[in-house]
Amino acid sequence: MQRIGFVGWRGMVGSVLMERMTAEGDWKGFAPTFFSTSQIGVAPPKVGLDAPPVMDANDIVALATQDVIVSCQGDEYTREIHPSLRKQGWKGIWIDAAKTLRMSDDAVIILDPVNMPIIEQGLSKGIRDFAGGNCTVSLMVMAMAGPMKQGWIEWISSMTYQAASGAGAKNMQELAAQMRVLSEAVGTLATDPAANVLEIDRAIRSAMRSPQFPTQQFGAALAPSLIPWIDKGMASGQTLEEWKAQVEANKMLGLDPQIPIDGICVRVGAMRCHSQGLTIKMKRAVPLDEFEACIKESSPWAKVIPNEMAATKEQLTPAAITGTLDVAIGRIHTLKMGPEYVGAFTVGDQLLWGAAEPLRRMLRIVLER
Ligand code: NAP
Repeated sequence: MQRIGFVGWRGMVGSVLMERMTAEGDWKGFAPTFFSTSQIGVAPPKVGLDAPPVMDANDIVALATQDVIVSCQGDEYTREIHPSLRKQGWKGIWIDAAKTLRMSDDAVIILDPVNMPIIEQGLSKGIRDFAGGNCTVSLMVMAMAGPMKQGWIEWISSMTYQAASGAGAKNMQELAAQMRVLSEAVGTLATDPAANVLEIDRAIRSAMRSPQFPTQQFGAALAPSLIPWIDKGMASGQTLEEWKAQVEANKMLGLDPQIPIDGICVRVGAMRCHSQGLTIKMKRAVPLDEFEACIKESSPWAKVIPNEMAATKEQLTPAAITGTLDVAIGRIHTLKMGPEYVGAFTVGDQLLWGAAEPLRRMLRIVLER
């Protein structure tokens, strides 16, 4: 029976992974061991399979007894532990949510509904490192893999609207705290039909600019505002988040030549759904019904939403998509720049296809081989 080690299962991505594995009945046919850097020796989580007490996630000897390690622990952990394990000859499969290994020649970026042949090729070539993609990139590729693989696309500009969850659990809590402060600042004015709207505006402005406004995590107000900067800056003028779009999406789909992809990544006050406004430059004008059909055929989760007001409000918002595996794409129409320019808008839950789901499915692929 295969021994599967789980690291980072207590964190945000790890918890969603555990939940999804339970929902899909994945806890069977293997022997799990749970590792932690802080909860060593406590009882393992109840998953319906026997497991020893939680082991030390920094114990290389214990980790090396596993056939597969699934890590949602983060970049720093992978940078430290993965090379030590490999150096001492560990030949197991490493499945990771962190960015560390994504661009390595010895790793495949996993998103099996759209790149299963690349995963299979990797496995048969003896690749043993498999990394989930950046959340924003995975969600764009889930929506756009069909047209991208057809060779129709010259370039894509993606302007993002990214949720608080992409920055971590503490940031989600800070967004909620900001909402609470604003609600308290406005009080009954919010529901008083006789209220002066400028008074409401002044209350919000003064609350969000107050030194007491909770901004320790984001470094700025988010709930009544937005932040057009995610992750660290690069010499190119992009942020690291923006840089990932082209390199990861093209690697994921094995595209050569690459499709240039760039844009501006923006944090908005959504809880856990990332949205993206896409400007797509086609090599030639493709009829929109053909374009939409190609998206629908790319995976059961890519959902084309009609370019109509009611359907958009009902089905193409973070409120509609959160907690589901659908990646919705709508507002598809030809732009005024010319017949080869297509506009589209996509929304997906970044903790599912953007984080935990590709890992869960990769573990299944490995177990079912
Ligand atoms: P996280 O929530 O910060 O969890 C990481 C670790 O923090 C946990 O495994 C746990 O490790 C420790 N921890 C400390 N106090 C905790 C507490 N009170 N509750 C739970 N865990 C606690 O990290 P994450 O957001 O899941 O991200 C993990 C990795 O996935 C990162 O590399 C990230 O870049 C990547 N990723 C994240 C997202 C996302 O949406 N957040 C999307 C794609 C990829 P111990 O058990 O060792 O204490």
